[in-house]
Amino acid sequence: MNRRDLLKSAALLPLATTPETLAPRLDRKRSVRLAYIGDTHILPEARPMNGIAACLQHIQSQADRPQFIMHGGDTIMDALAEGRDRVKTQWDAWHQVVKANNSLPIEYCIGNHDVWGYEKAKAEPEYGKKWAVDQMRISGRYRSFDRNGWHFIVFDSVQLKPDGSWYTGNLDPEQMDWLKQDLARTNAKTPVLVLSHIPILTTTVFAFNGQQSNPTTIMAGLMHTDFGDLIKLFYQYPNVKVALSGHTHLLERVDYNGVSYLCNGAVSGNWWKTDTHQQTKAGYALIDLYDDGTVERTYVHYQ
Ligand SMILES: [Zn+2]
Repeated sequence: MNRRDLLKSAALLPLATTPETLAPRLDRKRSVRLAYIGDTHILPEARPMNGIAACLQHIQSQADRPQFIMHGGDTIMDALAEGRDRVKTQWDAWHQVVKANNSLPIEYCIGNHDVWGYEKAKAEPEYGKKWAVDQMRISGRYRSFDRNGWHFIVFDSVQLKPDGSWYTGNLDPEQMDWLKQDLARTNAKTPVLVLSHIPILTTTVFAFNGQQSNPTTIMAGLMHTDFGDLIKLFYQYPNVKVALSGHTHLLERVDYNGVSYLCNGAVSGNWWKTDTHQQTKAGYALIDLYDDGTVERTYVHYQ
C-alpha cells in the first residue's frame, strides 16, 4: 500500500467503527484549538491576580493561538461559605483581570466554589448558582452549543445539599433528561466534547490528598457519583469523544470506551499557596480537536 492508498482507505473509515477506535485518521484536519483554564480561585490579592494575568497573557502569546477559552470552574476562591461583600470583591477582581489581560471569548462552567451557599444568604435572589450564572454571562447553569464542527456540552456538576453546607458531583434528574435529549438531537457524525467541573471518571481521586486514601471509598464531592449512568449513556453515543474537567487540580488522562477523560490541572496550583498540588504544577491546557473526533492535549506551565 502506498501513502495515497493508505489515505484513501483511512478516509473511507466511518467516524468511529467501534467505541475503542482511538487511532487518529491519517488525513484528519484540526477543527479548533482552544485553551482550557480552570480552578483560577481568584482573590483580590497580588499573587492570584498577577498569576491569572500571566496565564491569560501566556495563552494569547502562543504562536498557534487558541480561538477561545473554556473555563472549567472555580473561577473565584470561594462563595460557598462567604458573605455578600466577600463574594462580590472576588467577582470584581476576576472581571478586572480579564478586562485588562484577555481578548478571547470565555465559555464558563460552574465550579463548587462559584456557588453562593452561605447559609444566611438563602433568602437572597442571587443565592445558589444564580449569581455565578450572572457573573459568567451564561444562558443557564448547563448548556450546549456548536462550534467548528464539534458539539460542546457544559454541565452543572455541582449539586448542593439542601442546607447548602456541602455538595456532590452529579447531574440532577432535570439535567440528565436534558442531556439525553441533547445527545439524541445531535448529528451522530458530529464529535462531542463535554465539560464538567467535577471529573466524571478519574483514578487520581485516590491520591487527591497526597496519600493513599481508602481505596474502596471515593468522596462524593470529588468524582461524579453518576459516572456509571454517564459511561453507559456515552457508550450509546460513540460520537462523545472528550470529557474535560478540573476540580482536583491534578493533571490526568483516562481513556475508556473511546472517550478521553482529561483532568487539566489548575491555574492556581495549590490554591495559590504554592505552585504545585501533589505533583501537578500550575498551568493551563491547549486542546486541539480534530474532525475525526480525536484530541491532543498539551499542558502548559505559564510561569
Ligand atoms: Zn478548585
